[in-house]
Amino acid sequence: FIEIHSVSRVFNGGNGVHDLSIDIPRGSFVVLLGPSGCGKSTTLRLIAGLETADQGTIRIDGKDVTNTPPSKRGLSMVFQSYALFPHLSVAENIIFGLKVRKTDKSEIKTRLAEALSVTGLDGCEDRKPSELSGGQRQRVALARAIVAGHPLCLMDEPLSNLDAKLRHAVRKDIRDLQQRLGITVVYVTHDQTEAMSMADIVILMKDGRIEQAGDPAELYLQPATAFAAGFVGSPP
Ligand code: ATP
Ligand code: MG
Repeated sequence: FIEIHSVSRVFNGGNGVHDLSIDIPRGSFVVLLGPSGCGKSTTLRLIAGLETADQGTIRIDGKDVTNTPPSKRGLSMVFQSYALFPHLSVAENIIFGLKVRKTDKSEIKTRLAEALSVTGLDGCEDRKPSELSGGQRQRVALARAIVAGHPLCLMDEPLSNLDAKLRHAVRKDIRDLQQRLGITVVYVTHDQTEAMSMADIVILMKDGRIEQAGDPAELYLQPATAFAAGFVGSPP
């Protein structure tokens, strides 16, 4: 579904990502895992079109999008900071993008009801973000991402502002949501427990390159390098 072929994006100073090739199947939950600075966000931003590749090609759903602007790539993003509008209600926050795109009123109503229901926010639509818990705010951000109806959602450390208990619950919410909607999710985290518990496929990165990719059991049981063993916590 997403085909990244020999993509590099190198910043002044030599950091960035180098010669990345990744194949992401439709409907899968793929986690980009690795330490700070290894290039996870840069990879996600390249898929989103917020960063342009120096070389290589990116295809989404069979279409070459290497030079396509973000709004035309058919995807949504969820960030670490929920970036909700404090003066708008939950409902207004969720449908903001649809309004900007001048979506039909009855269509907005249907999609809002659906987004509220799948994220468990029924009854919260008239509240302001300040009247919600951290977990609820993060679910508003999720609802806003899915209301667009795109088949692909990119998430960059969406849970890092939540406490451990909430993180656990919202992790499951996100996974359930992805399966119910049948969408493809690319999820960035530096937390190996999160990666191992959520992913169909883990892509472990180091220094702007892929160290190892595979399903969680494979990474845990057959780490290819000492770095991989250390990072996923395999027994020596
Ligand atoms: P973290 O877990 O801390 O968010 P990350 O894996 O997401 O890290 P990236 O943000 O992708 O890492 O950054 C990869 C490398 O590229 C880092 O060394 C970073 O300093 C560098 N980098 C990222 N964006 C830029 C930029 N706009 N200009 C210069 N260097 C950059
Ligand atoms: Mg990052």
